[in-house]
Amino acid sequence: IKKIGILTSGGDAPGMNAAIAAVVREAKIKGIETYAVYDGYKGLVENNMEKIDPEFAISIMNCGGTAIGSARLPEFKEEKVRQVAVDNLKKEGIEALVVIGGDGSYMGAQRLTEMGINCIGLPGTIDNDIVSSDYTIGFDTALNTVVESIDKIRDTMQSHNRAAVVEIMGNGCGDLPLYAAAATGADIFSIPESKLTKEEILSQVKKLHDEGKRSVIVLVSEKMYDFTSEQLAKDIEAASGYVTRATVLGHVQRGGTPSAMDRVLATACGVFAVEQLVAGKGGLFVGLENGKLVARDIEATLNMPRKDKSQEIKVVRDINEIF
Ligand code: ATP
Repeated sequence: IKKIGILTSGGDAPGMNAAIAAVVREAKIKGIETYAVYDGYKGLVENNMEKIDPEFAISIMNCGGTAIGSARLPEFKEEKVRQVAVDNLKKEGIEALVVIGGDGSYMGAQRLTEMGINCIGLPGTIDNDIVSSDYTIGFDTALNTVVESIDKIRDTMQSHNRAAVVEIMGNGCGDLPLYAAAATGADIFSIPESKLTKEEILSQVKKLHDEGKRSVIVLVSEKMYDFTSEQLAKDIEAASGYVTRATVLGHVQRGGTPSAMDRVLATACGVFAVEQLVAGKGGLFVGLENGKLVARDIEATLNMPRKDKSQEIKVVRDINEIF
């Protein structure tokens, strides 16, 4: 194997660049050239690929986002579109690919492997919603951003005797708000794995108000309710007596300098991915399982059940109720 490609696909995440840097350097050690495929699967189809210089790779290690762009290309589900990608790769002499992204991206990687291009998937998403990895590349940085934001919101809520609703991303996974609640002591949290009704949130905030708590922080996962966080804040204000403000953290969670832990995870995964490709393997997903790097069949990975978080949820709920 002389040439490999690398692409980032789906939502961007801090640490993707560190993974790219690791792949490029590990490949160089093994005498392999690495090509950047720009804008995910789109770059494969449009033949937008370029050799990555190791010096450039090192220079992007500490940068947020992805230096080689990401995009969604729903047409990649069609075999004729993927055939164009395979033909382009063959034309360039690129024999294998590393794909950094989420679940959807691994499906693309699996299909390409079936068409003769060995692909290895790496977990790149802030959501931590890849069930076959303890942590995903980008989660730690996003969590730190969320925690820092909540700390700041708490400062002003505490000063003014107010309540706050903070809406957090997660793509159906409650790990960011759950871990953030553990790290900040946020009073109430509602996540897909343990969803509270509006009535439950209102009565819990009112109880805290009646007990004399000076500020209350309510964390909610995005896209869970058919009402907005602004509306929830208004209802909390009416029901509890706290002046209440809503903050939707939004895309601020996706950006920023990758944390040391994300860079370390990205580097370990990137090195491991190149080792798999050199061993002639494809159709695999590389992740952390109980702290150890493992490579699993993509198909098996996608069918794994969600981890049971009920114990962690209970512990955080119980401890954060005390004041
Ligand atoms: P995120 O978790 O950030 O959304 P993701 O990788 O799950 O990341 P998707 O939009 O689901 O994001 O998928 C990214 C890309 O992967 C799609 O735009 C498409 O190009 C490709 N893809 C998704 N599903 C398939 C599939 N079944 N077959 C081939 N390619 C696919």
